[in-house]
Amino acid sequence: MNCPNCDRLLYSRIQPKCGHCGIVLPPEWRLPADEIEKIREEQAEIEARRVLAKEKEEEEREAKIRRDRSNSSHVPPGFML
Ligand SMILES: [Zn+2]
Repeated sequence: MNCPNCDRLLYSRIQPKCGHCGIVLPPEWRLPADEIEKIREEQAEIEARRVLAKEKEEEEREAKIRRDRSNSSHVPPGFML
């Protein structure tokens, strides 16, 4: 779907304006409200999954650092009591 004013491709049908020329798009060019809501929910879900993946990644990195640290000290922590 292209902008009626600048004829460039509209990258999003959620936005009320054209991202290229800034013209306000007629309502019929936009998705119905429930469709927009659905897309927003999907995006929120993707974002949540991305955050979770990042947290997991950081956790694994920290675990690796801890592992490396305990490897470099030749005495296992339990033996230090
Ligand atoms: Zn435009």
